[in-house]
Amino acid sequence: TRLPESERKNRPKVVLLGSGWGTLCMLRKLHTDMFDVTIISPRNYFLFTPLLVGGTTGSIEVRSIIEPIRKYCKRSDANEATFYEAECISVDPVKKTIRCVDNSAVKGEVSEFDLQYDHLVVGVGADNQTFNIPGVRENACFLKEFNDTRVIRDKIIDCLETASYPSQPEKEIDRLLNFVVVGGGPSGVEFTAELNDFLQSDLLKNYPLAKRIKVTLVEALPHILTVFDKKIIDHVEKRLRSSENTRIWTKTAVVGVKEKDIIVRNEKKEETNVPYGLLVWATGNAPRKLTTQLIQAIGTNVQNNRRGLVIDDYFRVAGADGIWAIGDASINPSKPLAQTAQVASQQGRYLGRLFNDLAEEMYNEKIKSKDQKLEQVTQEQQPTSTVFQTTTNKSFDSFIKSQPVFKYRHMGTLAYVGDHQAVAEFKGDHSTTTSEGYITYYLWRSVYFTKLLSIRNRTLVVFDWAKSAIFGRDISRA
Ligand code: FAD
Ligand code: NAD
Repeated sequence: TRLPESERKNRPKVVLLGSGWGTLCMLRKLHTDMFDVTIISPRNYFLFTPLLVGGTTGSIEVRSIIEPIRKYCKRSDANEATFYEAECISVDPVKKTIRCVDNSAVKGEVSEFDLQYDHLVVGVGADNQTFNIPGVRENACFLKEFNDTRVIRDKIIDCLETASYPSQPEKEIDRLLNFVVVGGGPSGVEFTAELNDFLQSDLLKNYPLAKRIKVTLVEALPHILTVFDKKIIDHVEKRLRSSENTRIWTKTAVVGVKEKDIIVRNEKKEETNVPYGLLVWATGNAPRKLTTQLIQAIGTNVQNNRRGLVIDDYFRVAGADGIWAIGDASINPSKPLAQTAQVASQQGRYLGRLFNDLAEEMYNEKIKSKDQKLEQVTQEQQPTSTVFQTTTNKSFDSFIKSQPVFKYRHMGTLAYVGDHQAVAEFKGDHSTTTSEGYITYYLWRSVYFTKLLSIRNRTLVVFDWAKSAIFGRDISRA
């Protein structure tokens, strides 16, 4: 439906928080002629996280896997969506407003603003989980954002250069060259694998001391990659342990972090200090500050899940009118899903379609309606939104309930495990198929290659892969 010009200025205000998997996939589906769409995010790009780990060693350049969000705001056939590079710091679910601040280096006279919404979609993802362990935020590197990869890459090389100083004590060399990865989930394992590749293919050739590098993967549970099938766990643990530079410490939890040491606790509750040069922290997700603020604002009697915003089958946030949540920031307690890009992107696409369908249905309904009086009342009472809320909230609810609920389609899980090998797991209703090895590696590459959003990204990634295969990864600390 193309709205007549008179209706356009009264389109419902839809505000999307975040420029990640969930919100970008929703934005790509939304009909911007039906909605007045604004996107708020502290970063003005989308980041393709499945290939992020490659950026820590230079297998790929991270610029090859980002996309400017403004590119997706442009529409040839309809109104453009508006983008503001800002962080949303609070939501008032009663007044239906959000407060945003500029947290970038350049500030203008205006560096804070409020926005009104009819519908707010929270897709702010998740923060790094630290379990409030002292010293983690101050001393560890994380693996979530564009800049994290630069910090890690820089530190790896810095440790090697510093270890190479004349008269550097032996003990200090061992400390500098102990690279510790905390968390044996997919992020920690993929990073360990990538680091091993960097060591074997590039660092050993260039640094005489590189043979003394130890990569220590610390996992609190008895096994790494616990979400995967047992066969895959055994395969990956065996593979990683076969590399003489790699150690896997399972049943070992990091309980404290200092500038040069971590404190680990084993299953007998004994604590030991372990010196490190590089510490990468990958122990999963925690809700973002904004998610926690919103949970508090709605009330913990309704919003009572530690993982994020409680939503229903249509992504409506429980206890709040006009607020929706998708991706890592949300949880449907009756159908909990993994916090993955695969889930967030399907949710974003579903919600985009749901908004379009609802707007269209309700708009058509309104045209059909002969009840002029109702229409006048609606227009007087709801000046900002004549399309989505043509009648009462009750009828809005009945529209929603006529829509099919979201059904997640799991396409399988893939992870890179180093030395041109990957693992894959495909879960059916009654059985699980797994595969490991070189062929799976090409499957991993092709899947993520095709999932990249643009031809530009695909071209850059292919060049990066070819460049590092032919010339090796760059070891300059620049
Ligand atoms: P995100 O994609 O994280 O996006 C959140 C957005 O919100 C960002 O743009 C952020 O800047 C913005 N934001 C944050 N705070 C605010 C605020 N206050 N106001 C406004 N905007 C805000 N999943 C897979 O399925 N396959 C994989 O192979 C895979 N590999 C991964 C590898 C790594 C290293 C990591 C870290 C994750 C990986 N994941 C993978 C998980 C996947 O990236 C996440 O599940 C997915 O990004 C979640 O999407 P999202 O839209 O909820 O959040
Ligand atoms: P995760 O939650 O999957 O794993 C974190 C691990 O850290 C757990 O095994 C936990 O036992 C361990 N841990 C927690 N505290 C610890 C401590 N103090 N000391 C030692 N170990 C500790 O986290 P992740 O790997 O960061 O992944 C986050 C999300 O992103 C997950 O949903 C994951 O599925 C997704 N992801 C997917 C892929 C992929 O599909 N290839 C890759 C990366 C991330």
